[in-house]
Amino acid sequence: MSEILKVTNLKKYFPVPAGMLHAVDDVSFSMHYGETLGVVGESGCGKSTLGKTILRLEPPTSGEIIFEGEDITNIDDKEFKALRPKMQMIFQDPLSSLNPRMSVSQQIAEPLRIYKVYKSNEEMEKRVLELMDIVGLARRYVDTYPHELDGGRRQRIGIARALALRPKLIVCDEPVSALDVLIQAQILNLLQDLQKEHGLSYMFITHDLSVVKHISNNICVMYLGQIIEQCDTKELFKNTLHPYAKALLSAIPVPSLKHRRQKILLKGELASPINPKNACRFAPRCLYAKEECFASAPELVDVGGNHRVACHFVKEINGL
Ligand code: SF4
Repeated sequence: MSEILKVTNLKKYFPVPAGMLHAVDDVSFSMHYGETLGVVGESGCGKSTLGKTILRLEPPTSGEIIFEGEDITNIDDKEFKALRPKMQMIFQDPLSSLNPRMSVSQQIAEPLRIYKVYKSNEEMEKRVLELMDIVGLARRYVDTYPHELDGGRRQRIGIARALALRPKLIVCDEPVSALDVLIQAQILNLLQDLQKEHGLSYMFITHDLSVVKHISNNICVMYLGQIIEQCDTKELFKNTLHPYAKALLSAIPVPSLKHRRQKILLKGELASPINPKNACRFAPRCLYAKEECFASAPELVDVGGNHRVACHFVKEINGL
């Protein structure tokens, strides 16, 4: 499989009164066609900013973004408009991402209208109905408005909009976290079916490791703007190596008394993402922190089998 996306040393900083907020700091990864990459971390870890920066909704501070072999890091808005159909986003809150004054058909037709995909209204209406069928939204809702629908149906409109221009990469930013559990499962199944049928690649951003476990091929765990562990999904759940990722995993509820995990409770203050020191950002909360952790930042290194971890003492902690 060849690469659809390659991100190298990507940084996104925001100026704030106290200095520079390092929202995304030196992030590198690649994705292949048809793959789902899970990006996981607590809220505020920079995962949504990473998605928006890749889709150029935020201009990057530095680094490189290669999409389908083309460097898109610094292309202008006009050039990016031509690329936009190939790169779409599904947002977390379907209600706030939809226009309350537009009917279902108008919402789904909007990208088709902007990109002048069809010459006649009849062709466009036909495509809107086809998209409603694809995402499992009954045709009887075509003239309804977002407030008349439940969360799952609203998210299906968001997915139909994202699919309208036949994209190759979709950044799914917490697409199920505003939905109840039953609807979450339906939307996740729908996304997986669409991926198989249309050969889509997903960057799936979430705070919920149990969600990405079922949908991702590979996972990046982020902490304060940086990737701290990155590997194949099965490997992460079998062999978690970074102390933060271990704590995150221990918080997943297990519906069995026999297999219940010991929950790791993190203590200590979260380090500041504003002008961060050259140190491990997890050190103030890490059970294994030593002097060296506060004196230099660990690099993300391959500890074997393409399993990359940013921790000075990963071997010692895990007996490798
Ligand atoms: Fe913990 Fe030190 Fe490893 Fe950071 S580098 S995760 S503080 S042991």
